[in-house]
Amino acid sequence: MVKSNIKNLTFEELEGLMLDNGYPKYRARQIFQWIYKDVEKFKDMKNLPKDIIEYLNENYYIGRAHAIDKQQSKDGTIKYLLVLEDNNVVECVLMKYKHGYSICISSQVGCRMHCSFCASTEGGLVRNLSAGEMIEEIMAVERESGIKISNIVIMGIGEPFDNYNEVIKFLKIVNHKDGINIGMRHITISTSGLVPAIYDFADENLQCNLAVSLHSANDEIRSMLMPINRKYNIEELMKACDYYIENTNRRITFEYALIDGINDSQEDAKTLSKLLKEKLCHINLIPINPVKGKEYKRSELSNINEFIKIIRESGLPVTLRRELGTDIQGACGQLRKSYLSDN
Ligand code: SF4
Repeated sequence: MVKSNIKNLTFEELEGLMLDNGYPKYRARQIFQWIYKDVEKFKDMKNLPKDIIEYLNENYYIGRAHAIDKQQSKDGTIKYLLVLEDNNVVECVLMKYKHGYSICISSQVGCRMHCSFCASTEGGLVRNLSAGEMIEEIMAVERESGIKISNIVIMGIGEPFDNYNEVIKFLKIVNHKDGINIGMRHITISTSGLVPAIYDFADENLQCNLAVSLHSANDEIRSMLMPINRKYNIEELMKACDYYIENTNRRITFEYALIDGINDSQEDAKTLSKLLKEKLCHINLIPINPVKGKEYKRSELSNINEFIKIIRESGLPVTLRRELGTDIQGACGQLRKSYLSDN
């Protein structure tokens, strides 16, 4: 019989499992707490009776991921390459902020969105990560680093909304008070703009943050950078964003990677300001990380400053993302890419 990873179960599913098998419901809490105290074997769950341990051993295993490579930046950012049970690898990045440690996790092995500036996309999508594997990204990094993580961004390899159900399940597990217990307000999901999933996510009404990778307010440029724009153009994307804002009363962060000569002109800044005017939002500008084999260059500092000035003058809140880990192939997918080309 094929065993399943117990980390894929939400607390409620674990309760259902206990009841369905004739065990008391309160055993679910004990098991859940042990899992997130990071025990490796069911037999180490000391307050469980033998029959439950046997049942768990017969049907489940406690999934683990292992760091096989790590790169530490001068600024303290650490990028981990984790190997999964089937030998696929994913990346996650541990970053220190004023308010604690933040982890950027992957949601898929590879990605099929084919954004032209991204290193994750070249081999296409290999497979989705399960909720338990995303949980393990956090646990493996905490284990490896000895650091307690307080914030999560789902912005690593993959498009989270292309793996919608597992990502929602992950949020429920990671947020549970008897487990890792990271508050929804400390979690951000980033999407390249999968419009139907933005509507679904708005309807979930979770308290977690949404970031939308915009990168241009012009359909022609955006379609060139992000092929998803050919399926869901800027007008459709903005309608979905308005629906999200109206229904959740939460602000959206629009991510905008500044690329020299592509989307960083004064005209681009004006079009962006016009598009987002009066939206409950925040604009996060990111000087693009150069990717080996891609021709995109980071914008000149004078262009970045002018861009910011135009947006500020329009009244929209804008920040320039602090650059972390540029000396360790910090951009999404680069460590995995170099690992795959060496192996
Ligand atoms: S930027 Fe994100 S959505 Fe786009 S190809 Fe890379 S991983 Fe996928």
